[in-house]
Amino acid sequence: MLRVFLILVILFALSFSMELRKVGEGVYMAEGTYGLPSKENRGFISNAYGVLTREGWVVIDTLSTPELAREFISELNKIKNVPILYVIATHYHMDHWFGIAPFKEEGAKFIAHANLKRFYEDGSADMVLESAQRSYGVFNSVKLFPPDIVVEERVKLRIGGNTLEIIPMTPAHTNTDLVIRFGDILFVGDLVSYKRIPFLGDRNASTKGWLDVLNRLSKFHFKKLLGGHGDPMGRDAIRWTKDYITYVREKVKELKDEGLFVDEVKSALKDTPFKNSYMYKEFHMKNVYSVFNELDMEL
Ligand SMILES: [Zn+2]
Repeated sequence: MLRVFLILVILFALSFSMELRKVGEGVYMAEGTYGLPSKENRGFISNAYGVLTREGWVVIDTLSTPELAREFISELNKIKNVPILYVIATHYHMDHWFGIAPFKEEGAKFIAHANLKRFYEDGSADMVLESAQRSYGVFNSVKLFPPDIVVEERVKLRIGGNTLEIIPMTPAHTNTDLVIRFGDILFVGDLVSYKRIPFLGDRNASTKGWLDVLNRLSKFHFKKLLGGHGDPMGRDAIRWTKDYITYVREKVKELKDEGLFVDEVKSALKDTPFKNSYMYKEFHMKNVYSVFNELDMEL
């Protein structure tokens, strides 16, 4: 009886604990599950990373909520109780920077693309937050802050003996995408994914620009890609992402040229070779729809 009780306690603890995983020298990862934010997953649907330098932590992405961010910070402190110096958002989607508040309370400097600051200042960020609060029910304690430091061109961040290079790569998944290079690791946000359908439907996305970015990334020297979702990836993930985006663009263009309307294109492309990938039912139809519109703009 006691044993059953203990197992239940352990299972309960496991389902809520945020175990960090070492994914490189001084690099730790919190890995979210696949899905849209919900009460069940508490919005833990994306990854965050801690990079340990001689002077303190640099964090890549904040997770979706202050609650998750606080858990992440306390796990980082268990590894080494040193200040969090910087937190960098790979882009402006909610699961990558809505957990910003506790990092600000810790005194970290917030770094993001200049367009994230514009998105904050023109009120768009608050509108997205309000609609996310209505839709998902896990964002009630989110408090947003503008970046302290904005990036628009490639910059090097030197901390102690370490260098992190921040490289804007826009427009692609959004108009705020940053890639961060640390040694032979590239943090790629949502620019690269493997067997998980990328979201092409952001209002500032450009699949054309995204393919250029993937070509640029494929020329980099690196050993590991750490993304916003899923496990650490290798070079084949760039190919996989490129294949999906190219497939959608080419098929939509073909059908459009035949004179099909958007709804007809959508039903023709419901079933594709990518249908067994994660997030297919959540994102694929939206992707077809937005690529249809994007191709209009390209003409
Ligand atoms: Zn994203």
